[in-house]
Amino acid sequence: MIPVVRFAPSPTGWLHVGGLRTALYNYLFARQSGGKFILRIEDTDKTRYVPGAVDKLIESLKQMGINYDAGPGKNDDFGPYIQSERLPLYHKEAQRLLENAKAYRCFCSSERLEALRSQQIARGEAPGYDGKCRSISPAESNTLADKEPFVIRLKTPLSGEISFKDIIRGNITVEYSKIDDQVLMKSDGYPTYHLANVVDDHYMEVSHVIRGEEWLPSLPKHLLLYQYLGWNPPLFAHLPLLLNSDRSKLSKRQGDVAVEDYLLNGYLPEALNNYLALLGWNPGTDEEFFSMAQLIELFSLERVNKSGAVFDPVKLKWMNSRYIQQLSPEKITKIVEPFIKNCQLTSEKTAIIVPALQNNIQTLSDMPDEIKKLQTAPQKPNDDEALTLINAGSTRLLFEAFIQECENLQIMTALKFKETMKLVQKRHSIKGKLLWMPIRLALTGEMHGPDLASISAFLDVKEITKRMKAALLWLS
Ligand code: GLU
Repeated sequence: MIPVVRFAPSPTGWLHVGGLRTALYNYLFARQSGGKFILRIEDTDKTRYVPGAVDKLIESLKQMGINYDAGPGKNDDFGPYIQSERLPLYHKEAQRLLENAKAYRCFCSSERLEALRSQQIARGEAPGYDGKCRSISPAESNTLADKEPFVIRLKTPLSGEISFKDIIRGNITVEYSKIDDQVLMKSDGYPTYHLANVVDDHYMEVSHVIRGEEWLPSLPKHLLLYQYLGWNPPLFAHLPLLLNSDRSKLSKRQGDVAVEDYLLNGYLPEALNNYLALLGWNPGTDEEFFSMAQLIELFSLERVNKSGAVFDPVKLKWMNSRYIQQLSPEKITKIVEPFIKNCQLTSEKTAIIVPALQNNIQTLSDMPDEIKKLQTAPQKPNDDEALTLINAGSTRLLFEAFIQECENLQIMTALKFKETMKLVQKRHSIKGKLLWMPIRLALTGEMHGPDLASISAFLDVKEITKRMKAALLWLS
């Protein structure tokens, strides 16, 4: 049998980077093993319904190149893959649990449960259901069910313990007394996450559950459900938490952790996948750059760490800049297009300047600022080194000679620029720093920056002449 894994998000309207990492690890595992990767939407909490959330989530996964084999819009014999479309199945299994006395109806009011909780907290106890309705007889429960709202709860054994193995965390034992009589069916007729999750993993024939560590405390309840329903559980791997730099749990604020925001801000999917793959998984070498194909080849659950991984936005940005630097001129010119719309460049100018600025940006959204900087005539520089070069004896001659050469040109190209520089150099014996730096300062106001030939081709003859003439006024 082939491995079957799933990514099972609750649609909140956007994809968290932590969710993306879970999806990615499931995807890598499936692709490596020739298995099946399912996207299942866990939308049974009606209070958290967000219109359009599922489409957004699917779109983000698609942009990240994480394609699922079965899921919404890709149905097969095991679907539908949206939990709100599977309610009869959960009812059937909840009914079976009731009939086998593995679950019971609870008629307690929310007021009673609230009061119980406050008392437990005041006594310093862990809050949990006190089992009041466990003793209601099945006949009485059936009669009450016709008149009163109820939930269905898991009947946890009163003593003993449960042991299990997690692929990442090893063997774990939990006493039943620590496990709450979890609500499985809510009074609105919707299952809770716990019931729906187990029922679906069973019927979808999931072989490996790979998910975040925050679900580990739920595992004993899930295993109990498998046992009560007479099913073999899948294998489990709980991934380490993602942390802020102060080691608190990674922020939930959308602005900091939404995948769609990273993409909109000009992070490359390849860079984001590469960075997230390393948050919790250790490739066993010092190598940090991995293509998706390499990740698929190398990934293993055995090399996933137990301890939390710090999400470092600065490192991600650095990695993104390295990915940007690797792009071909054609590729970067194409993908940066939506980011530089407002710069209103012709396609010729875009093709000249974008590759020249490729090494100066960390995200694609930095590009318009870099372009605008070049489009703006510079002020007279005020640092000493720059002023020394501007005031050098040869600079006036240099500028005048350059302006004169420009007058003979229709357009400036990178090649023409280099020829002109050579000419001026030969004719007036100005070379090295004294040749290049004053020209760079006149055109950009800065000592360092992108390739001067490209900048000149970008600015073209008229603008170059204008800037040179303005720079002549800087000379004392
Ligand atoms: N719906 C859960 C979530 O939002 C899924 C947990 C699981 O994978 O079992 O993360």
